[in-house]
Amino acid sequence: MAANTSGDFGMSIKTIGVIGAGQMGNGIAHVMALAGYDVLLNDVSEEALKASPEKIEANMMRQVSRNKITVEDMKAAQARIRPTMSLVDLGATDLVIEAATEREMVKQAIFEDLVPHLAPHTILTSNTSSISITRLASRTDRPEKFMGFHFMNPVPVMQLVELIRGIATDDKTYAACLGVVEHLGKTAASAEDFPAFIVNRILMPMINEAVYTLYEGVGNVSSIDSAMRLGTNHPMGPLELADFIGLDTCLAIMNVLHEGLADTKYRPCPLLTKYVEAGWLGRKTQRGFYDYRGETPVPTR
Ligand code: NAD
Repeated sequence: MAANTSGDFGMSIKTIGVIGAGQMGNGIAHVMALAGYDVLLNDVSEEALKASPEKIEANMMRQVSRNKITVEDMKAAQARIRPTMSLVDLGATDLVIEAATEREMVKQAIFEDLVPHLAPHTILTSNTSSISITRLASRTDRPEKFMGFHFMNPVPVMQLVELIRGIATDDKTYAACLGVVEHLGKTAASAEDFPAFIVNRILMPMINEAVYTLYEGVGNVSSIDSAMRLGTNHPMGPLELADFIGLDTCLAIMNVLHEGLADTKYRPCPLLTKYVEAGWLGRKTQRGFYDYRGETPVPTR
């Protein structure tokens, strides 16, 4: 598939820089490369960058086995992804999607380091789940070319992309990002720039409430998850889902909601904080509300 996406204003995007080769960055690189974009994938961790091709291949193989893509599609996409530890290499890209750790200081430092190397036309975006797009944009030289590009996890499977305009984002930038979402065959939902936008504003308080339900002994991990799966037809229970997202990310989002909206209803559950302090971050560290080190996940409470 040729990559020549145009928004309403004819902006052409061919090369995409992805910052952060964690679960989201790998997923974003995966879908972008399959759609024909050239991808530069950056991380500060050499280990993360080295692990990335194998993870992406395992996810693409899942699509091959379901006949969604061919082995040739996979090989062509893999050849379009170039790993780099240098942010300078991303300077010539048309669009940058920052998907590093959900900490504002980390993201600000990335944009500050990147900006001096950018081509004038490059659009900057963040995959942040909750942090103010307007505030991140204000630290760059191009707030009008800055917006939120929020994929859902797992990126190759989930249909939605939330597009978030900062206060200064211009129409041309929005149209170009919408063009990319459409080229991926995904669906965009437009959200205003308030803490956690739409999806996480609604989802995270539910997950946090599930952790309070556990903390207060109303149920245990299994009963809470099966109650929500079977009682509300959710495909995953809230604690299972929290482990999947990453408990550090869930806590970071609750803190943004709590601080940004100044309402005690968003107070993060102390038990969620305790799990994060223990380094039990969910699937990515093999332990969270479930222990994933054996054949089948075992509840930790
Ligand atoms: P992750 O912990 O799996 O990956 C984060 C990656 O960022 C790591 O590989 C880390 O080494 C890298 N990183 C840290 N500092 C960096 C720097 N200065 N420069 C380059 N790379 C750096 O986290 P994730 O789940 O992939 O989340 C990444 C972003 O995506 C966060 O903003 C998060 O809120 C957002 N997000 C996450 C989900 C989810 O379900 N996990 C969903 C949507 C959006």
